[in-house]
Amino acid sequence: EVECRYMNGVGAVSGGAVLVVFQDVTHLEHASQMRRDFVANVSHELRTPLTALMGFIETLRGPARDDVSARERFLQIMMDEANRMNRLVGDLLSLNRVESEERIRPREQLELTALLQSTLNNLRPLAEASSVVLTLNAPDGPVSLTGDSDQLRQVFTNLIENAIKYGGSGGSVEVRVLSSDRDTAMRGPAVRVQIIDKGPGIDATHLPRLTERFYRADSHRSRELGGTGLGLAIVKHIINRHRGRLRVESELGKGAVFTVILPR
Ligand code: ADP
Repeated sequence: EVECRYMNGVGAVSGGAVLVVFQDVTHLEHASQMRRDFVANVSHELRTPLTALMGFIETLRGPARDDVSARERFLQIMMDEANRMNRLVGDLLSLNRVESEERIRPREQLELTALLQSTLNNLRPLAEASSVVLTLNAPDGPVSLTGDSDQLRQVFTNLIENAIKYGGSGGSVEVRVLSSDRDTAMRGPAVRVQIIDKGPGIDATHLPRLTERFYRADSHRSRELGGTGLGLAIVKHIINRHRGRLRVESELGKGAVFTVILPR
């Protein structure tokens, strides 16, 4: 449905004829609204840890000045808040970079199974800290692909990290690779990478908005786990750049399956 609320009429007279140009500016209005929302969101996300930092500085200057044990505790909280701001700025920069590169098709030749294996190895300490078992199921031979290895590594890192974080401690996360010469979604050779967790899952009402910047299905849990709300937005843009697709299937109480489909 296209809504045309704002119309600019420009009339010009030339040699007796009248030229009228109508420009639909609805999409411009929409883009500028989105930009305003984004700035408001970023400001809010930065201000929350900043307010906490300012509060603790005041406390350390005043009431907790001579309390050594309180000072240590507060400094740790301040470090955590500073880290949160640092992660947010890092994710904002990543998002900015992938958005600006979206039209440029990546050309690097890479082998997907090795890339996934090393991504999983990097995430093992995080998984072990939550007693989560990580497994990789991939075809025996190499799975070759054209892409941007750093960006694809970021996609899989974000998705596997989410599966570990939200999947709950003591669970399992499986990464499955399926390669096909004729993928139904891509209508040609493609590879599917599925990240499967057995956690609490995501309610169907949240699924369509999950890749929006700062959208969180469970806001409290995301913040508690140090999430920025930008991970899936970054994932979406990188997959778009690779002309691929992201599919999310989930049911409350039954875990979640995130499928990345990439053309080969
Ligand atoms: P965040 O930094 O909050 O994790 P993301 O963009 O990575 O942001 O994810 C958006 C939201 O999607 C999360 O806040 C969380 O509510 C939900 N989510 C993502 N992955 C999972 C998962 N595997 N299981 C349950 N919920 C998930």
